[in-house]
This record gives sequence, C-alpha cells and structure tokens, in this order.
Amino acid sequence: MTRQRIELAEASPRAARLITALEDVLRREGLCDDRLRELARIRVAQLNGCAYFLALRSAEAIRLGERQERLNELAGWRDSRRFTDSERAALALAETMTKLPADGVPDDVYGAAENLLGPYNLANLIMAVSVANALDRMCLRQTSGGVDVLAGGRRLRFDRLIVCAGLGTDAVARMTGAPGDVRIVPFRGEYYALAGTARDLVRGLIYPVPDPRYPFLGVHLTRRIDGEVLVGPNAVMALALEGYSWRDVDPGDLRRILAWRGTRRLAVRHWRTGVREVLGSLSKGAFLSAARRYVPALTAGDLVRVEGGVRAQAVDRDGALLDDFSVDVQGRVALVRNAPSPAATSSLAIARHIVGLTSVSSF
Ligand SMILES: Cc1cc2nc3c(=O)[nH]c(=O)nc-3n(C[C@H](O)[C@H](O)[C@H](O)COP(=O)(O)OP(=O)(O)OC[C@H]3O[C@@H](n4cnc5c(N)ncnc54)[C@H](O)[C@@H]3O)c2cc1C
Repeated sequence: MTRQRIELAEASPRAARLITALEDVLRREGLCDDRLRELARIRVAQLNGCAYFLALRSAEAIRLGERQERLNELAGWRDSRRFTDSERAALALAETMTKLPADGVPDDVYGAAENLLGPYNLANLIMAVSVANALDRMCLRQTSGGVDVLAGGRRLRFDRLIVCAGLGTDAVARMTGAPGDVRIVPFRGEYYALAGTARDLVRGLIYPVPDPRYPFLGVHLTRRIDGEVLVGPNAVMALALEGYSWRDVDPGDLRRILAWRGTRRLAVRHWRTGVREVLGSLSKGAFLSAARRYVPALTAGDLVRVEGGVRAQAVDRDGALLDDFSVDVQGRVALVRNAPSPAATSSLAIARHIVGLTSVSSF
C-alpha cells in the first residue's frame, strides 16, 4: 500500500465518532459472557490482520479474566479442546461474517449460534462483529481525532497527550514511535539526616554555588519546615531505572543505558567525578567530608542514613547532561524528556509553555 489514504475522521468526523461510540455501547451492553464477545472480536482482528485491535482486544480479554493459553490457540480453535460449544458457535459465526461467502452466512452456522446463545446475545454478537470489522478495515483508531492510550487493559482516548513519565520516559517514547535523540540515565541521590542536637547547627539552607558543568548541586544541607535537616544528595549512576540501592540491578535497563552512546561519552568525560561520587556512596566518611566543607563541626555520629531517590536525567548522544527542559512534540503527543530541578517542576509558567507547544487551549 503506497498510495496515501484519506483520514476518515478528518474527512467525516461525526460519522467516525458515531462508529467508535457504537463500539463502546456494544461493549457496555454485554453478552451473557463478555469474554465470548472478546474472543469473537479477537478472531476478527486476526483474520483482518489488524495488529492494533488484536493487541487492544487481547488486553481487554485478559482484563476480563481470559487465559493466555486459550488466546494462544484461538486461531486454531477448531482443533482445540479449550473452547465451549457456545464459543465455537460464536467463533464460527464471527469467521463467516468476516470472510462473508457469496451466499452469506449459512443456516447451520447461524442456527447453531442462535440455539446456543439466544436472540439477545446473538443480536449483540452480530453487531459487535460488524463494528469490529468496520474498525479493523477503516483503521478507525486514527479517526477518533485523538490519541488512544492502552492502560491496564483499558483504552482511554484524549484529544492531546502530555507525557511526563520521569524514569519511564524512554519506554513511553518507544511506544509513541519516537525514540528521539536523548535517553534517560538514572542517577541515584542518597541522603543522610542530622541526628539530635546536630540539627541546631543548621538554621537555613546551605547550598553551594552550582558548578555549570553539572545539573547536580553536590552534597548540601537543607533544613525542612519540620525541623529535619537533610544532607545530600550525591549523584551516582544507578544500575536500574528504579535503582534505589546498589542491590537494585536490572540487566535489561543496564544494557539499554550502556548501549546509549551518550552514556559512554559521559563516562569518559566525567569519570573522575563519577569515582568521587561512588566513594561518597560507599563510604560514610567521604560523604561526611563533603558535608564538612560547609559545617566543619559535623561528626560521623551526626549522620543517619535516610531514603534517597532516583533522578531521571536526560543525556544526549554526545554525553551532555541536559540541564534545561526538553520537550518533543509529535503530532498530538508532547513528550517531556527532561524536567530538571530545583523548583522548575512546579512552575506554572513552564506548564503554560508546554500547553502552548501542544496547542491545548482548554487547560
Ligand atoms: C534525590 C532527588 C532530589 C530532588 N530534589 C528536587 C528539589 O529539591 N526541587 C525540585 O524541584 N526537584 C527536585 N528533584 C527533581 C524532581 O523530583 C523531578 O525533576 C520531578 O519529579 C520530575 O517530574 P516528572 O513529572 O518529569 O517525573 P516524576 O515525578 O518521576 O513522575 C513520573 C511519573 O510517571 C509515571 N510513569 C512512568 N512510566 C510510566 C508508564 N509507562 N505509564 C504510566 N505512568 C508512568 C511514574 O509512575 C511517575 O508517577 C529531585 C529529584 C531527586 C531524585
């Protein structure tokens, strides 16, 4: 297929909306068994070779409690023992309606379905199969005038989508078909808290002058409104996207992170800083001496380990750590690839800017 086809939803949006709305009505109307309806609709997508609806309907079936083993055998249901008589009748009807022989649906196929399902279920099945065929053949997912998101087996539809997925940014970018030219490299930030009277040594925020080479400030001291004083964070490359400690290692994440040219360039360029940060992570003494640059009176006994976090740091192909917002706009999808701190993440001015990029006016 090389010729550019028309976008049905743009050419005739009201009709397209009605067809997709009809699908929703039929899903809500329900048969005696919703799984049976999904089996029929999956079989239709298989015959039509429509990967999008195959995935969508399979996910819906699993959400309804369908078993993966049965889905695996669905294309060969005639030879399988996993399907009931009612399901076999429904599948025979769905197949015949989809292939539609010159003489229409034979009486024996129709009769078996009517006997086993009854008139109400049969009527809904016929309509569900007809609409499934219409959607498959017209590629109507593009006709909704929006973005379809498959989440937890449910399909959600939006006119525009703004993605802020933090550590999940690369995975979502792959889903949108726009892997882009930066990747997320996870940097763990570890913290200690000051214990007992050591808290009285710090009455405000003690922050270093930023080093323009890095988006991370380095160890500093933050007095919170509840009186707790945090010391940190450092910045060590994590061994998994959700690598909250050295024990968290994910070979798949690690492979992807190391395969990125930017990660290797970053390592070559900044290995000295990397080694220093790792030492600070492994040795309380090294962390303490970083903190003592600002508060020399601190001792090892004053520091108590507390939970840290993992920053989703965008790194470009040349190994540069992005220190500004980075937003990719692909059609109706805006992907926030880098959301740096501090304070910027709750800035309404930045929210307005991103909304402007996606031309969403009703926020
Ligand atoms: C140690 C540390 C200290 C920090 N200090 C500060 C500070 O002092 N000031 C400041 O302004 N900022 C600070 N930050 C940074 C700030 O937390 C981040 O910049 C900000 O949270 C990023 O926002 P985000 O929405 O891009 O990502 P996140 O807040 O990480 O949100 C991403 C969301 O997407 C969800 N998600 C991921 N993948 C998927 C998927 N496939 N499907 C659906 N959902 C998904 C996640 O569950 C999560 O809820 C700090 C961060 C760390 C780690």
